[in-house]
Amino acid sequence: MEWQTTIREAAPLSGVGLHTGNFCRLIFRPAPANMGIRFIRTDLPDSPAIPARVRYVVDTTRGTTLGIGKAVAHTVEHVLAACAGLGIDNLDILMDNNEPPATDGSAMPFLKALLNAGIKAQPHFPKRYLKIPEKVHYRSGYAVYTAYPSDHFEIRCAILHDHPMLPKQMIHLKINPETFLNQIASARTFCFEHELAALRSMGLARGGSLENAVVIGADKFHTNKEGLRFEDEFVRHKVLDLLGDLSLVGRSLFKLRVEAIRCGHAHNVKFAGMLDRSAHQLRKSKEENKC
Ligand SMILES: [Zn+2]
Repeated sequence: MEWQTTIREAAPLSGVGLHTGNFCRLIFRPAPANMGIRFIRTDLPDSPAIPARVRYVVDTTRGTTLGIGKAVAHTVEHVLAACAGLGIDNLDILMDNNEPPATDGSAMPFLKALLNAGIKAQPHFPKRYLKIPEKVHYRSGYAVYTAYPSDHFEIRCAILHDHPMLPKQMIHLKINPETFLNQIASARTFCFEHELAALRSMGLARGGSLENAVVIGADKFHTNKEGLRFEDEFVRHKVLDLLGDLSLVGRSLFKLRVEAIRCGHAHNVKFAGMLDRSAHQLRKSKEENKC
């Protein structure tokens, strides 16, 4: 039997948010079993908690935003990917502003903070997996997603852009804490140079810089001095985003095989909703059979 997990001790992290540019002090705090992952806005009266669940998604423009009433948490996908990649089930994420720190644009600083805090099993509380009874398929425009029941977690992902610097990238890998750490967690967020003015005019990317994003120009990549971390860093970051968004089902994804072509936050969240409903249906029919 595998038990649920949280972290051993609190771990802080701070910095400006990618889109809002707001400075945020974030603290990871252990949470009891069966609580799931929650964002807690400590700067607001009564410190409202927002569960990291699909039904609380309020926006998917260039990032996934959760919210209940006036309490929102922008760009939650990278921090959630770190939790999902490590298989953390229960965690409180305290924030004194409305967006987690952008850090370096990847999930690695979150992952390191969580690993430093230590992962702790929660004995007698069995891990809850997302289990679907059969294939789940989603198509919208050029985006295509399919998930299959599996005994391990596996993702096949492809991006296809009409851009000379990024025509096509594809990746296929089994995801576990080790592969997530070595293959996915450090892949940074990116955007195209021609989108920058529009993003800024929408009030987005205010905290963005080459220290936390890769910008794809017409004939070159604009990065900080380290250059690209992987030749196919972009599709790896798409896997990171997908993992963070799919984790909004509120259960471990480690019994799922996913194929995703041309994925993005809006589609990721819709697909997570479909998976959630399919798994719920399965649990309901099992309960009915027991009666
Ligand atoms: Zn991202």
